[in-house]
Amino acid sequence: MTESTRTSKHALFADYAWLPDGWRRNVLLEWDADGTLTHVTPDASARMAGVPRAAGPVLPGMPNLHSHAFQRAMAGLTEYRANATDNFWSWRDLMYRFAAKITPQGLAAVAQWLYIEMLKAGYTSVCEFHYVHHMPDGNRYANAAELAGQVVEAARTSGIGMTMLPVLYQYSGFGARAPNADQRRFINTPESLLDLLGKLRDAYPESAARRYGVAPHSLRAVSETSLRSLLDGLDQDLPGAPVHIHIAEQTAEVDACLEIEGARPVQWLLDRFAVDSRWCLVHATHVDAQETRDLAKSGAVAGLCLTTEANLGDGIFPAHTYLDEQGRFGVGSDSHIGVDWRAELRLLEYGQRLVRRQRNVLASAEAPFVADRLFGAALDGGAHATGRAVGALRAGQRADWLVLDAEHASIAEHAPDAWLSGVVFCEHGETPIRDVYTGGVKVVDNRRHRDEERAYAQYRVALAELLR
Ligand code: ZN
Repeated sequence: MTESTRTSKHALFADYAWLPDGWRRNVLLEWDADGTLTHVTPDASARMAGVPRAAGPVLPGMPNLHSHAFQRAMAGLTEYRANATDNFWSWRDLMYRFAAKITPQGLAAVAQWLYIEMLKAGYTSVCEFHYVHHMPDGNRYANAAELAGQVVEAARTSGIGMTMLPVLYQYSGFGARAPNADQRRFINTPESLLDLLGKLRDAYPESAARRYGVAPHSLRAVSETSLRSLLDGLDQDLPGAPVHIHIAEQTAEVDACLEIEGARPVQWLLDRFAVDSRWCLVHATHVDAQETRDLAKSGAVAGLCLTTEANLGDGIFPAHTYLDEQGRFGVGSDSHIGVDWRAELRLLEYGQRLVRRQRNVLASAEAPFVADRLFGAALDGGAHATGRAVGALRAGQRADWLVLDAEHASIAEHAPDAWLSGVVFCEHGETPIRDVYTGGVKVVDNRRHRDEERAYAQYRVALAELLR
């Protein structure tokens, strides 16, 4: 069929769209009833009668590769000095107290509002690293997948694509230390976690908008044996499904891993498991030169959550070296102190600038515009982390994209090759992201989500209950 004989029902014409080879003019986007792109045609000869026109330049939607939905409700509530040595571990105590109070209805309301915030910010997919599974006393809900199901349902109703990663949390520290009382809502064996995952898949089967994987919480929360049996079990049902893990966020866990396991966490994992592009190593913050090279070579995705890592005082990932080694990365909003991929990319570059006292550190000879390089790389790495066909405007990919406001003061009058620089680095006023589509459906229209008033009212009720 030629472009003029195809149906215009699932079609959009963009004066400019960011395709895998950069900005292209007069792009016709067409997709099927399932929300998968069928044709992406640049230099389309003429606009078809009846095809709507995008209100501005079109970018692929960004995957958010790391989220703990319930933590959205505590953003802004830990920014005070509780003791002289406030750090990640004292923050974790506060977070555990919060996790102890969440109810299924409360989690549903928080997740629904969070996912609407993500969509409005231009995240069109999320990887949910979900670890609160049980009742406050540690007993199972009648449906073992009760809480995970609430999160999956929130993704469905908001319209965001989801990779649900139920978390295996088994131990409180290296050497298979027994879990603490404040971890009892999290605890599973590989078998009980795979059983939970099975129940979840029965209730919410995989689709173009939804995929499953697993998340061993961290090397301190699993053992080599339990990690192996989790992966073996996963591969029986879902071969090749994504595997995410918190790897080296804090120097204390690197030290403990060295002391008890005899190796740094990234090296330990790479030495023992076939780590490849199905893996996402979240917070690969503390890596030495050898680990940086080996991680890049593995094809795994480094999951960088810059705003959270800055908020928690984690440290700075050696992004410059890692990108030089062709390492793959994506970004996530993690604790949701901010929900904005633009801020994640900006902070990724700014961390390097502050350390090296240079500018445009993460640009390269081939990609001199740092924002364009980081945006393209985060799309690619984020897409790998989701395990879904997302992250590019190309036939066969999910019809997920953002429409920029060409009149916005961050990009108006700029040439197209400076648009992404303005989008990522300028912090002026409201977001330049005007409309958002997922699966070909416009879920954000002129910065408003179709459900936001109702979802916000429910979020306020849930938050008031949590803070009571
Ligand atoms: Zn995390």
